[in-house]
Amino acid sequence: MAKQSREDKRANGDLRHQNRKKRLEKLLAAKPKTLIPNPADPVGLVIGVAARQCAVIIGGETRLIRYDVPVAPGDEVSISNEKVSGIAPRRTTLCRKDPANPNRDRLIAANIDLLVIVAAISNPPFRPGLVDRYIIAASRGGIRPVLCVNKTDLDGDLSATRIYQIPTVYCSTKTGRGIDELRDILAGNTAVLAGHSGVGKSSLLNALANEDRARTGNVDEDTGQGRHTTTASKLHQLANGARIIDTPGIREFGLGQITLEEIQTAFPEFSAMPCRFRDCTHRDEPECAVREAGGSRYASYLRLTSEL
Ligand code: GDP
Ligand code: ZN
Repeated sequence: MAKQSREDKRANGDLRHQNRKKRLEKLLAAKPKTLIPNPADPVGLVIGVAARQCAVIIGGETRLIRYDVPVAPGDEVSISNEKVSGIAPRRTTLCRKDPANPNRDRLIAANIDLLVIVAAISNPPFRPGLVDRYIIAASRGGIRPVLCVNKTDLDGDLSATRIYQIPTVYCSTKTGRGIDELRDILAGNTAVLAGHSGVGKSSLLNALANEDRARTGNVDEDTGQGRHTTTASKLHQLANGARIIDTPGIREFGLGQITLEEIQTAFPEFSAMPCRFRDCTHRDEPECAVREAGGSRYASYLRLTSEL
């Protein structure tokens, strides 16, 4: 009896959950209609987002603008009465899992062409699994990943950085190596730099921007809420048309927790393989077809799961 009522409860709960999900899906599906930018309103580029306001570059000036629909750095928005009145359809999205609800994605940035994954070969040491995670997040959202191996003036083994099948540029902000090459890769694109703290993202931005006499957008220090996040957000515009959005949330992106389930969604081909166990994690189970097949994808998978 007790068991049955528990099951009933669960069934009711599932139904409620289903209904809630349907309502939410409807709501999300309805949103784009209200988001279409009004052609009469001025248009700007979002470079930073705080709780109620976002930093928007409009005609070379940065303003703090209220919003009540979700916006992200890289969004092109129209503005009416100092409020976001519309958001242009997003060409690409950079997302991470919502820690409170792993079934939902949280938008980190929009309309980014290039994700520059910055890594050092030493100080801090190279973390191959982290590079994999960035590549997965980028490819998922239609963004091209680029690996920037910095601090090549220091002693270190480069072989671990050569296994990725993505454009790779070797840099040093101390010697200037690779800076021109990186600038050429960025030309005409909107990009973000991400990577572990201390790998040299700020130094790279300075190297790219300073020599270029870049115009840099800063947010007015004295206005608005969520000042910390929005004031720390910057847009670096290079003469070759590159736009680099530098936002704290993006710099730190990808360093949080990751689950086995998330990793597995990035390797859909493994689920079709005839492992002995249906819920095989492909690590140490017997008769694992994925492990037996091996290959570079499996090597990436192992690197990712070893960081769990
Ligand atoms: P971020 O946390 O990724 O923004 O890293 P920073 O740009 O703040 O750099 C962290 C430290 O690494 C600073 O002390 C920099 O001077 C140093 N650094 C940056 N680039 C290089 C480089 O190419 N070679 C060496 N040896 N040190 C670097
Ligand atoms: Zn397996």
